[in-house]
Amino acid sequence: MKISRNASLVSASVTLEITARVKQLKSEGKSIIGFTAGEPDFNTPNYIIDSAKTALDNGVTKYTPVSGLPELKRAICEKFKKDNGLEYSPSQIIVSDGAKSSLFHTFYALLDQGDEVIVPAPFWFTYEEQIKLCGGVAKIVQTKKENGYKITAEELESAITDKTVAFLINSPSNPTGALYTEEELRKLAVVLEKYGLVTVSDEIYEKLIYDGEKHVSIASVSQYMHDNTVVINGVSKTYAMTGWRIGYLAAPIELASAINRLQSQTTSNACSFAQVASVTALTEVNDVVENMRLSFDDRRKYIMKRADELGLSYVKPKGAFYLFIDISPIFGKTYKGKVINNSVEFSKQLTEYGVAVIPGSPFYADNFIRLSYAVSLKDIEEGFNRIKNFLNELV
Ligand code: PLP
Repeated sequence: MKISRNASLVSASVTLEITARVKQLKSEGKSIIGFTAGEPDFNTPNYIIDSAKTALDNGVTKYTPVSGLPELKRAICEKFKKDNGLEYSPSQIIVSDGAKSSLFHTFYALLDQGDEVIVPAPFWFTYEEQIKLCGGVAKIVQTKKENGYKITAEELESAITDKTVAFLINSPSNPTGALYTEEELRKLAVVLEKYGLVTVSDEIYEKLIYDGEKHVSIASVSQYMHDNTVVINGVSKTYAMTGWRIGYLAAPIELASAINRLQSQTTSNACSFAQVASVTALTEVNDVVENMRLSFDDRRKYIMKRADELGLSYVKPKGAFYLFIDISPIFGKTYKGKVINNSVEFSKQLTEYGVAVIPGSPFYADNFIRLSYAVSLKDIEEGFNRIKNFLNELV
């Protein structure tokens, strides 16, 4: 059957191979500790679930306006004002079925064939695939260890060409957990304004921040940035609501209208009762949410301690729930006669040993593996006991 050029361009996820192997090994009765999850292991808090149940009982089961329920859009405007110091009118807000969908519609509305988007690496692999699908080109800029794997203003400026349309930033970052400071964002903003670029700022991990650090939205650092940034966010990670599929964006009005038109022809609207539950998530203050963050922080400290004990070096995560470990010192060693030369080979062998991790290569960081600490302390403990034994078996 004919498959379109566009669909053929999209790469299958490298992680799928590992996930499939994990499933197979588990079905054969093997115990596997998985550090692969990109989502909280907690269930959605009960008070949020209850509000969805009430919405269903009240008949909130129909289409909603394309851009979202008015009460949710108002709650999102309030959130932006309170948390980020950003003023938007409801007409600038589009609710979608997940931040992934918000990103896709943004790229689709922004890009023409050959337009470039600057993407600092390591980055979440979906960005590049979506940019390609929308006819654009991801201009990848490798960030440096000495800069905490964050792009500098100089690196940004030297990546700009006459085809550059946009800049993508993800702070806190998946996969590194890196968090940009206000000063760093201000320096980037100067370059972005000088060249008249649009910024797409993925802030989905905004609330998962540790060590007393502060999240700053790049949209808040100047009037230009406010007027030329699309802020992407959602409820998936903060409220353990990955399955509910609610994301949202704030955009300049012309872009928001274009995205609204697109969404009216693609998904129509996000799930009605999940939108009601999202109003509850965004407006009710509840300890459960803070307690989840505190648990992630405990696990973060523990996983770093275990990595330290094994002499592994990593990017110290300031946010999100991933530990990005440098495995390059291991390259060239063998396990059961097989040489390990890259992150995929390492991850495959470790999976056979009973620990599943995500190789760094799809994030454009082949010297690394990504471990999610959205898993129990018990699993982190057992997983690291196994990693220790695995490393001891390498020759
Ligand atoms: N942005 C980043 C950086 C992510 O890691 C993810 C999910 O893994 C998303 C966006 C997608 O979030 P959502 O569940 O709202 O589609």
